[in-house]
Amino acid sequence: MTANPPLFQFDNSYARDLPGFYVAWEGAKVPAPQMILFNQALAESLGLEADALNSGQGADVFAGVSAPDGASPLAQVYAGHQFGGFSPQLGDGRALLLGEILDASGTRKDIQLKGSGPTPFSRGGDGKAVVGPVLREYVMGEAMHALGIPTTRALAAVATGETIYRESPKPGAVLTRVAASHLRVGTFQFFAARGETEKVRQLADYAIARHDPDLAETPDRYLSMFRRVVERQAALVARWVLVGFVHGVMNTDNTTISGETIDYGPCAFIDAFDPAAVFSSIDHGGRYAFGRQPAILQWNLARLAEAMLALFNPDDLDNAVDLASAALGRFPDLYKAAWLAGMREKLGLATVAEEDEALFEDLLALMQAQGADYTLSFRHLGAAATGSPSAFRDLFVDPTAVDPWLDQWRERRAREAETDDQVKTRMDSVNPLYIPRNHKVEEALQAAEDGDYTPVKTLLDVLSRPFDERPGLERYSEPAPSSFGPYQTFCGT
Ligand code: AMP
Ligand code: MG
Repeated sequence: MTANPPLFQFDNSYARDLPGFYVAWEGAKVPAPQMILFNQALAESLGLEADALNSGQGADVFAGVSAPDGASPLAQVYAGHQFGGFSPQLGDGRALLLGEILDASGTRKDIQLKGSGPTPFSRGGDGKAVVGPVLREYVMGEAMHALGIPTTRALAAVATGETIYRESPKPGAVLTRVAASHLRVGTFQFFAARGETEKVRQLADYAIARHDPDLAETPDRYLSMFRRVVERQAALVARWVLVGFVHGVMNTDNTTISGETIDYGPCAFIDAFDPAAVFSSIDHGGRYAFGRQPAILQWNLARLAEAMLALFNPDDLDNAVDLASAALGRFPDLYKAAWLAGMREKLGLATVAEEDEALFEDLLALMQAQGADYTLSFRHLGAAATGSPSAFRDLFVDPTAVDPWLDQWRERRAREAETDDQVKTRMDSVNPLYIPRNHKVEEALQAAEDGDYTPVKTLLDVLSRPFDERPGLERYSEPAPSSFGPYQTFCGT
């Protein structure tokens, strides 16, 4: 008889290399783990034993009830600025890093459970998660991945059979998430705030080994690492803005070193273009409004710079501040360049012209004044490239208001070599038709809470191919009807 292969080939560098940065811990027992969703495609791309995992045994593992062979479950410690105020002690209050694997291409990935019970970092919370928010993170993360945006991903969602008391009784659930790492700005802040410079250095060396190994032997590696984080995060937030995504809770503990989107709580996509759009029920001041995200990201990166300062120049802190400021000062230009490049693609432009920024801003101003749906405006502009502007124009309250802009855009495009058909094809490959529309997400999550998982599965299928128009899916492309009302999201703990 041959033994079954292990479910995961773990290689746990965090547990091994960073004692003192976590607490070894176990998941809570729950009554009846049951698989809700299993991400077959992701499992295969990670080189996992997909069939063995998509099973009762897998459900136990993903509920945190039984640790798989080779796991070293642990809760990571971190701090963070939440809505601008510093919390010196956060950490995995309801999550466990099971371990790390090397995916099919040899890239190291964290396998983490979220909702697996209380830990020493729970701060009075119950350590649990419930079906709605777990599936929201699953759906939003997979949607972002399909849109080509760096993100943590969902491997599985299990129901636990427990009733969890929030504002009302809710079905309990656990999410299994896969991440390039769970290193956060807040991880650095935790040790920096305690004056533990050697631990900040140890963490930075670990981060470099994991995310920027080419820097490992270079003389200014800590500053170079910080510059890389600035570059990754500038590119990431540009992608959010280009696609109309509002993260909703951009605390420094939710800002990664890897450049992946993480911690989908009260996030949502905008319908009409509105820089002031806020969906989170707790974001009263609009700190994390759609249009403020780049500025907030830069603020978060300033907190990372502060935490790493002693590494930039241990002998001369004034000089360290100058170095950090220069590195951080690149953020606005990096962001702007990424946004302009993305907008050119969205508008089907292949070359760079001086007046492009004004052209983009004029379109956004028209969309805002005329209540045009953000996603559909870009998508339908593709048809305008081949002489069918009516779907685009009809998105504006007064379609004639956008005609002068259309003329300008046509003149701008006329200076480029591509045919209209080529332009439309390219535009359709970057402008999604299907995004997680707020009312469709709510509908799917509500059904799941009531025990019907079919709508969330259908939604995931739609969102897995956001750029391919498919007959029968029209209602997934439409913005929320006005009867849906103003949308509010909740943090989902
Ligand atoms: P989040 O808002 O999800 O990014 O979480 C912020 C902090 O609160 C993290 O330290 C979480 O681990 C912790 N937390 C959130 N929800 C719970 C919960 N239900 N029980 C314990 N800790 C929690
Ligand atoms: Mg978080």
